[in-house]
Order: sequence, then C-alpha cells, then structure tokens
Amino acid sequence: MRGFAASGAGVSETGRVRETNEDRVLVLDHAGRGTALYAVADGLGGHAAGNVASDLAVTTLHEEVPVLVAQRVSPPEALVLGFRQANAVIHGRGGSPDRSGMATTCTAVLIDGADGTVAHVGDSRAYLIRGREVRQLTTDHSLAAELVRHGGLTPADAGAHAQRHVLTRALGTADDVQIDVITVPLRVGDTLVLVTDGLYSAVPAEEMAGVIRSTADAQDTCSRLVGLANARGGLDNASVVIIRLRPRWLVQITRILVPAAVALLLGVGAGLYRVEHSYFLGERGGRVVVMQGVPAQVLGVPLFSLVRVTPVPVTRIAPAYRAHLLRGIPARSPEDAETLLRDLLEHP
Ligand code: MN
Repeated sequence: MRGFAASGAGVSETGRVRETNEDRVLVLDHAGRGTALYAVADGLGGHAAGNVASDLAVTTLHEEVPVLVAQRVSPPEALVLGFRQANAVIHGRGGSPDRSGMATTCTAVLIDGADGTVAHVGDSRAYLIRGREVRQLTTDHSLAAELVRHGGLTPADAGAHAQRHVLTRALGTADDVQIDVITVPLRVGDTLVLVTDGLYSAVPAEEMAGVIRSTADAQDTCSRLVGLANARGGLDNASVVIIRLRPRWLVQITRILVPAAVALLLGVGAGLYRVEHSYFLGERGGRVVVMQGVPAQVLGVPLFSLVRVTPVPVTRIAPAYRAHLLRGIPARSPEDAETLLRDLLEHP
C-alpha cells in the first residue's frame, strides 16, 4: 500500500508596505488519478501587472495539469508542459504596453503515489521537512544566488545584497523558459513547504520548520508564519503552502470504519488518533525498523507503515528484549524510537 494522501493549506497576504498582493497560491488536494497539486507564484511588473502574471501562472497550472494527469502524462512532463503553457500565456499578454515586462516566479509540486515532483522558476522556494532535517529542494534563480554559487558573495551577504531580488529566470520574460524539475521520494510524516521570498526573507528555514512541527493544524501554521513575516515589517507580500502527507492506508481504513455504530466510531476515532500518533520499533527482514501506527491488523489491513529500516540487525538486540521487539516496542515519535534503539543496544 504505497502512496500518500496529501492535504495542503495555504495563506497569501499583502504585508504592511505594499499596496497590492502580487503573490498567488494554489492548493488542489485532488488533481485527478490520486494526485495533488500545489503552487506559489510571486508576480513582478509595474502598473499592477505582477498580479496578472502570478494569477495567470496558477490558473494555467490549475487548468492544464489535471487534464495532462488524466491523459496519463508523467508528473515531470505534466508540470513542464503546464509551466511552458503559463510562460506562453504571460509572455503573450505581456505584449500590450500596460502589461509590458510582466513576469512571475512559480514553484509547484505534484504529488503522485510516493513521489513528489517539484517544478521551479524564479526565487520562490520548496522545502522538505523530514524529522529534524530541513532541506531546500530548489535553487534561487536570482543574481545574488548566482553570485553565491560562483563564490563572489557569502550566503550571509546575499540576504542583504541590493540586487537580491533581481531574477535570472522568470515565467513570461521570453518565449522559452528553462524549468528546474526535481523528483523526491516521500516518506510517512514528511511535510513539503512552498514559500515566496517575502516569507523566507523574514522567517529563516529552521524557524519555519519549528513552527510547522509545533502547530498541528496546517491552516493555523500558515497563518502563524505569515503573521511572523508581518510582525517583522511585512516589507513584501508573503505566501506559504504547507503539504502534509498521511499514508493512504490510514485514509482508506478511515473510510472502511466510519460507517460503524456511533459507540464503535468513538472508540475507533480514539484508535485512529493513536495509530496516527504512535510509533514502534519492530522487525522486518532481520533488521530493526521504525514503524508508524500500532502493531496490529484490522480486517486484514495493517495498522502500521514503515518509516525507516535501520542498519541494526535484530541479532544485535539482547535476547531478553528480542521477543518484545518482534511484538513491537512502542515509542512517542520517530526520534523517540531511535533513542529507544540506542538504549537497547547499550543494555545487552
Ligand atoms: Mn516577493
């Protein structure tokens, strides 16, 4: 039972200095054939043309990508075709004098099964948060980032560089555009984050991850992050999309069990909460593994899924604990499970 049910939330705000919001977000949990589509776009161009460009980017993706997915076009190709179409539409409209030079950044992710595919142009960003790790998946297409890559600028200086907002790539500036495409294999518990520069310039990635880990509801998390950007001056439009991944089996079992009687339902509800918030150490293929869920099955459906196979063979666990391990040793979190494993190895 591979695959994830993605659920996203997004917030986009004008901030305290700009008059209009030229950022746009797209949150589409159901993009067809079990896929989900999310995007942020940050428009630029005078005379309010920026919000036309970012609007065209997200609406084009919204219209085109699900059609391509329905035609079984692969996720990387569907995103590239969607981006090219958006680029053509924006570049075409940019021909009129009042819209001249309009363009937009765009960072989008298409989730299909257990893979997330990111397509990216400009200086908005995608991050992957996995346990304690925060990984930036995208590279900024900005002058400052180019200077850092070529050794002319330190990352610390880049944040204050006068030309940090000058883009080297954007949708709509020419009739062709180079698009970065990154595919990442996803795991249970991963969170994907899309942000525009107004958000990440005000809230560093580690702090962003801290807020995401400590707030349960994704919509609340988005509001808190945008609130932080505003509290620190709100110098730019700020936008964030947060995508949480739940294992599909958990969603399926919810569907199987929900029609049960009310009393049973209450019990199951508590049970599912426990399943989603429980972890345990177990065994698979002779190695110690970290699982999410509880070590049991209902109607033949396992109530757990694999988080991580550790390199530790079961034979390294003292015989006194091995039987417990085979039945599943409960833990509060994946980190707690790792600590538990270290304790087990230290107590032969
Ligand atoms: Mn911006």
